[in-house]
Amino acid sequence: MTADQPFFRFYPYAYDDPAVFEHSGDRCDVCRRPCVWRYNGSLYATTEPSVCARCITDGRLGAFLREPHHSLQDVEICGADPAMAEEVLQRTPGVASYNPFEWPVFDGKPLAFIGYGDNEAVIAAPGVKAMIEQAFADLGWTSIASRYALVFREVDGQRYRVVPDFD
Ligand SMILES: [Zn+2]
Repeated sequence: MTADQPFFRFYPYAYDDPAVFEHSGDRCDVCRRPCVWRYNGSLYATTEPSVCARCITDGRLGAFLREPHHSLQDVEICGADPAMAEEVLQRTPGVASYNPFEWPVFDGKPLAFIGYGDNEAVIAAPGVKAMIEQAFADLGWTSIASRYALVFREVDGQRYRVVPDFD
């Protein structure tokens, strides 16, 4: 990780997905420098500036927008430490989903989004495949269309949570 490619603890693999970040020399509307990593994800605000990863992580995007309730996520987040909730909503790249969902929280701490259920590395984690199967079975799904699973892991731990997200 570099200054141009800051690490997002609640979305650690954000740079692996071109729908989230794309390498680009375009100018960032916020800092006016070449983006290097231009954000391609969602932004829920009244304007849609071209923005770089640096300006998301350090809060300059928020200062630029001047909209206290802007968000990069289409989620609810309940029971989280307020500063961490704000970091998820306003300083973490958006997690693409078909529907709004509830961002998982353990002990006041939001979990990190580690990927979708069609990612081999993600479902290779201990117990994750079984969690996806159980979450889908609870909803009456027998086949595992695993792109519809959002997988989360504790930032500093090994507990996982699966959020089903059907289109
Ligand atoms: Zn910028």
